[in-house]
Amino acid sequence: MISDNIKSVTQRIASACERSGRSPDSVKLICVTKTRSISEIREAMAAGVVCLGENRVQDAVLKFAALGEKAEWHLIGHLQTNKVRDAVRIFSLIHSVDSLRLAQAINKEAARAGKTKDILIQVNTSGEASKFGLNPQDLTGLIKEAITLPNIHINGLMTIAPEASDPETVRPYFKALRELRDEARSAVIPPHALSILSMGMTGDFEVAVEEGSDMVRIGRAIFGDAHDR
Ligand SMILES: *Cc1c(COP(=O)(O)O)cnc(C)c1O
Repeated sequence: MISDNIKSVTQRIASACERSGRSPDSVKLICVTKTRSISEIREAMAAGVVCLGENRVQDAVLKFAALGEKAEWHLIGHLQTNKVRDAVRIFSLIHSVDSLRLAQAINKEAARAGKTKDILIQVNTSGEASKFGLNPQDLTGLIKEAITLPNIHINGLMTIAPEASDPETVRPYFKALRELRDEARSAVIPPHALSILSMGMTGDFEVAVEEGSDMVRIGRAIFGDAHDR
């Protein structure tokens, strides 16, 4: 049952918080609804889920039309510049900004809509060629440029760890994101909060919380194994 799974995930987050001396409400659960039906999503929302994570703008457009403002929408997948207008309209937070060009496109659409859009910068902490995300050495440079854009607000950083059967093996990537955040924070003048770390998925969220995650993005532990798409 989806509601039992949500309860169990919430408890596991709380235990990881306790182990690391953090308050259990310091971690936000993003329920990842990609490939899931409207009725499955409604079931999760009935069980108390507020934040939904989608990885494709075109899927989110349809789900947003059905479920609308009752949820808080998070874009966790790669964003193409031709989808920025819909993304700015739908999502409260865009987790996947990985270039200045994309930051500029979001800034432009946000300005047009009379908004300031919250974003995270996605960093490829593992260096895997298959992953989107900025190279860590380019982070400070991007932040220094993007921080001057008036209609976006850089709230923090996001990463996706490699798949691993033992979550301990990916702890270094979460630690790396936290350290990159701390470095970037002190490198920009005036200091910038960059307070949010979005890291941790079904296979590794407890380790991510122990390393300071503020947002975990969880799909399979809530809905079961993903359908093919
Ligand atoms: C699919 C996805 C998740 C959720 O993964 P699960 O293993 O199902 O928890 C989290 N983050 C991103 C970016 C994803 O694409």
